[in-house]
Amino acid sequence: MLDADFFRRWMTATAASVDREAERLTALDSPIGDADHGSNLQRGFAAVVAAVEKDGPDTPGAVLVLAGRQLISTVGGASGPLYGTLLRRTGKALGDAAEVSEEQFAQALRTGVDAVMQLGGAAPGDKTMIDALVPAVDALGESFAAARVAAEQGAEATTPLQARKGRASYLGERSIGHQDPGATSAALLVAGLERAAGG
Ligand code: ADP
Ligand code: MG
Ligand code: MG
Repeated sequence: MLDADFFRRWMTATAASVDREAERLTALDSPIGDADHGSNLQRGFAAVVAAVEKDGPDTPGAVLVLAGRQLISTVGGASGPLYGTLLRRTGKALGDAAEVSEEQFAQALRTGVDAVMQLGGAAPGDKTMIDALVPAVDALGESFAAARVAAEQGAEATTPLQARKGRASYLGERSIGHQDPGATSAALLVAGLERAAGG
């Protein structure tokens, strides 16, 4: 079972890897974006960790709803409302249970990913964070490690794609040949689950 502590560790682990990879995320956002993805998420996840420490949410759902709200209010870019919606809607789907099973979490995360697709209008293959999140959710029933690998492969598979959503889509065919920054950060988020579980 996964308790509130697990979800706090997930946010802390994600903040740490976003910090470590911030330059790379911003570098990926340079040729096909506006070179701010790393700093956007650094600011966002720092706010998440601070809020979680201050407010001490005591259920899985409360941790994720709080985290989502922080991302929405502190990240100016497109990714803030999208990641914020992902976590907020996943948290809402978990309700107020003190502990949730991995299967319940996988179902809730699917609800969150669906909400992101509805908000942003992106489908798999559009070269966005969705290309890492959908395969991760599909593999989550197996294990956190399988979800991490699926997300990493999904992120790498965005390189030959032409962007159809977000800022990168303005470049048309020139967006081909670059890995999507949001899919790359989504793989960091998914990898955080394994770290939170002690892997
Ligand atoms: P901005 O483009 O506003 O500067 P960021 O650089 O923080 O925002 O985030 C860019 C990432 O957001 C993209 O790499 C992509 O993965 C994701 N993204 C942008 N628009 C969408 C969308 N409509 N649906 C899903 N993801 C999107
Ligand atoms: Mg950007
Ligand atoms: Mg921007």
